[in-house]
Amino acid sequence: MRSEGILIVVSGFSGAGKGTLMKRLVEKYDNYALSISATTRTPRQGEEEGREYFFLSREQFEKRIADRALIEYAEYCGNYYGTPRDYVEKELSCGRDVILEIEIQGALKIKEQYPEAVLLFVTTPSAGELRRRLSGRGTETAEVIEKRLGRAVKEAEGIERYDYIVINDDLETCVEELHGIITAAHHTPGRNGEFIQTMRRELEGDQIEN
Ligand code: ADP
Ligand code: 5GP
Repeated sequence: MRSEGILIVVSGFSGAGKGTLMKRLVEKYDNYALSISATTRTPRQGEEEGREYFFLSREQFEKRIADRALIEYAEYCGNYYGTPRDYVEKELSCGRDVILEIEIQGALKIKEQYPEAVLLFVTTPSAGELRRRLSGRGTETAEVIEKRLGRAVKEAEGIERYDYIVINDDLETCVEELHGIITAAHHTPGRNGEFIQTMRRELEGDQIEN
């Protein structure tokens, strides 16, 4: 039994470990397609065009909005971020599970457009650990770190709108929990309509024959 591709939205406080988790998840399992977003923020050291993000100017980004080339977009700490439509639609139609690693405003827009999407929220075990990871990553200035922690306070108000919350304490355990939740989502009756119909037809045929 294998249901069609699921749209999975992963959000979480900046520094919770979403990027690290997603990288490990796609390394370990080959049924996931990780969407690459467009952004106007500048690349961090080690980030590559088309690998972590498509890095665009504000003008280029606004053109994508006007062309309806993004299925959602949001402003986060002074920059635009958005999900390209083509990739998501193509991969879903091929039956793959598509992961969007996006912030909460985008997540809620996705849920409106794709009510069957599964929304996961990733957090650290504590606020202290969040601050440690965000500072320890060493990619943002002190000012940006404070902005992102301020944003976390707002995001925490929306956690109940997600379907699942996952605590990223031990990385491998968390990867397994994420994979387990997605696997379970494939087993809902609503995602296995075709199988259920076939089974019913077979059972009815069996009754007529006997
Ligand atoms: P996000 O994408 O959510 O902003 P990152 O994946 O960049 O977060 O992780 C933030 C920092 O925390 C990185 O330095 C990463 O190596 C570290 N990190 C991620 N997961 C864990 C974990 N389970 N335990 C300890 N450190 C972690
Ligand atoms: P970062 O600058 O740390 O890579 O990302 C900042 C925030 O933007 C994170 O919460 C990340 O999940 C979110 N984000 C990344 N891509 C997208 C996107 O396409 N759409 C939305 N709405 N948020 C995104």
